[in-house]
Amino acid sequence: MEFANVIVDISHEKLDRVFQYRVPESLKGKLQAGMQVEFPFGMGNRRMKGYVVGFSREPDYPLDKIKELTGIVEGSVKAEAQLIALAAWMRERYGSTMNQALKTVLPVKQKTRQRQSRRMVRKISREEGEMLLQEYQRKKYRAKARLLEALLQDEMLDYQKTLERLKLSASVISGFEKNGIIEIKSETIYRNPFAGRRVNKKQEITLSKEQKQAVEGIWGDYRQGIRRTYLLHGVTGSGKTEVYMELIARVIDDGKQAVVLIPEIALTFQTVMRFHERFGERVSVMHSRLSDGERYDQFLRAKDGEIDVIIGPRSALFVPFFHIGIIIIDEEHENSYKSETVPRYHAREAAVFRAGMCGASVVLGSATPSVESYYHAGKGEYGFYRLSERIGEARLPKVSIIDLREELKRGNRSIFSWRLKEAMEERLCRGEQTMLFLNRRGLSGFVSCRACGTAIRCPHCDVTLSLHNDGRLKCHYCGYEIPMPKVCPSCGSGYISGFRAGTQQIEREVLKHFKGARVLRMDYDTTRTKESYEQILTAFGRGEADILVGTQMIVKGHDFPNVTLVGVLAADISLYASDYRASERTFQILTQASGRAGRGMKAGEAIIQTYKPEHYSIRTAAGQNYEEFFRQEMMYRQMLGYPPAAFMMGIYLSGPAEGALQMCAGMLGSMIRKFEMKGITVIGPAAAALSRKNDMYRMVIYLKHKEETALLILKKKLEKELEKDPVWQKIYIQFDYNPLNAY
Ligand code: ADP
Ligand code: ZN
Ligand code: ZN
Repeated sequence: MEFANVIVDISHEKLDRVFQYRVPESLKGKLQAGMQVEFPFGMGNRRMKGYVVGFSREPDYPLDKIKELTGIVEGSVKAEAQLIALAAWMRERYGSTMNQALKTVLPVKQKTRQRQSRRMVRKISREEGEMLLQEYQRKKYRAKARLLEALLQDEMLDYQKTLERLKLSASVISGFEKNGIIEIKSETIYRNPFAGRRVNKKQEITLSKEQKQAVEGIWGDYRQGIRRTYLLHGVTGSGKTEVYMELIARVIDDGKQAVVLIPEIALTFQTVMRFHERFGERVSVMHSRLSDGERYDQFLRAKDGEIDVIIGPRSALFVPFFHIGIIIIDEEHENSYKSETVPRYHAREAAVFRAGMCGASVVLGSATPSVESYYHAGKGEYGFYRLSERIGEARLPKVSIIDLREELKRGNRSIFSWRLKEAMEERLCRGEQTMLFLNRRGLSGFVSCRACGTAIRCPHCDVTLSLHNDGRLKCHYCGYEIPMPKVCPSCGSGYISGFRAGTQQIEREVLKHFKGARVLRMDYDTTRTKESYEQILTAFGRGEADILVGTQMIVKGHDFPNVTLVGVLAADISLYASDYRASERTFQILTQASGRAGRGMKAGEAIIQTYKPEHYSIRTAAGQNYEEFFRQEMMYRQMLGYPPAAFMMGIYLSGPAEGALQMCAGMLGSMIRKFEMKGITVIGPAAAALSRKNDMYRMVIYLKHKEETALLILKKKLEKELEKDPVWQKIYIQFDYNPLNAY
């Protein structure tokens, strides 16, 4: 640690730079990232404070221009310092300005102050009070009498409420205060999102053998001072949440705090309430429905040590806790853990980094782990525990696959196979419920053949081509394009087209085929407001409909014990998203969807319709065989050098003028190629999946490399180059490290 990289104190405006200082002998070995330090700054060598965000061996400036740090500010590794170090790391890794990174990790300060609760406390004895009251009544001081009467009944009164209830003026109260009859006390009340919620204490449960193994294994490490990341692979309902809660209870006993990340509160409200039941007021929740003020209050409560556990979406990771003992990421495979704005960080990676700074363990839980996490677990980088069975009566459903190509051959052109139709009729007769799921995630205008199931792919990238308005099929990775073919290149059939069915069309078909059935539809159109989302689910839960038709929104969250059938209408759609994660998403979503059937005492059934029954994502999802899915998927990733077999970086370019953008993208592409970096693959530039948005044209370049550091070094090099030439100011450039969604 020859040189320390510091940023100046956050109260100053010019944040957007890292300054380099020499580390004096006396501080070597003592200094850590995140520490607050003092140093001479600027022409006048004004003494300034700032934070260490990293170290380097080599100077970035001429040696005579680098000054020396003055010293460490006592007691300085605060929660904020950790967050600032985290921001610096995010900036380095994901690419952003320091300012953008800091805005991401530090809560927005609210101008509005917290509400102050003021109370009046009676300072005179009851006897004195009664004598005084007689005097007021005699003198007909009506307002004073009312207040004193109230104070004789209640020693302590809420200022504002009493003022309104007794119709007093503030002067009456201040008069009481002046005469020493009352004292006014004020205290800050934080807005608590759980306020007013009843807590039902649940009875203790005994952990199953597998749950115990996970808890004792992770806790055993923890007690020995070992901190690492663990993957907990367990089907839904296998008791993962109980494992989290037990670990958290122990961490709290150890005087530490816990962070629980969940994908979306609206979908996991039941889970949140279980945490509240177990940890009471010491747990706080952050979600998108909180006002900015409420959100900021949660941060203040955390800072003041009022809470031990915070639950929330990915941004809850930036809670200013100082002693985090454990970070839990539930449903760790979910896409919502990746930020789609700069810095495009992944909460899983950021959590592991933060845990490293504060000596915490990380537990990732999922029924369908991300290929990345399972890969790390397989290599022994993550600890691994499995919960293989559902708790109690609920069993996994029976799953069957229907080949839609066969249906077409037998003359059935409707969207329901014979088998699905029959199964739905059975449910209607028995008064049980059905969920019909149209998987539209990642729908990107692919073209496929209904006779043989082939989708048209890029010969270079093995992702599907997308149909554009000009009638051409294009690859969103490399830019390869062909005209739309008239017949299937694989079997010659004319049944070749894009997939057009929507939830509305399905709803109409259901009503046509099942006379008298009560149908609810849930998709983007019917859930514009958060309330409508709840309303539809509640209505369905109360049995007000027989069939719920919906997009991926219906596969998560709430349990419906009376749903015994789940129909997946066209499992292929997500398979043909134009990015390399299409198979992984398909496996996850099919596993989740079929898991919705049979959550209660009744046995469940899932029917998956597809043009591609032999595809491994579909077969392994139907067989609930994660290992097999992983094996096949890794082969594909290895072969084409996609993560986690290699590392990938997206460079996204956008600008208002198409020509200028194309020129810049071309220049950037050749600049990267000219670096002649060993082992790098440069793909593109190409039009983005969304090639125009809000009147901005969008293009992409993708880079692949076996070594993570190679990409990070290249990014740094590019950032420096882009700073040099004003031509780049005309366009907007973002980096995306290991992208999740097509840009
Ligand atoms: P997951 O988080 O894996 O979906 P949960 O922790 O929600 O699973 O467990 C599913 C249900 O089983 C919950 O109602 C939970 O209270 C219950 N449960 C979990 N573990 C046990 C146990 N050891 N004994 C009894 N009930 C349990
Ligand atoms: Zn074909
Ligand atoms: Zn391609």
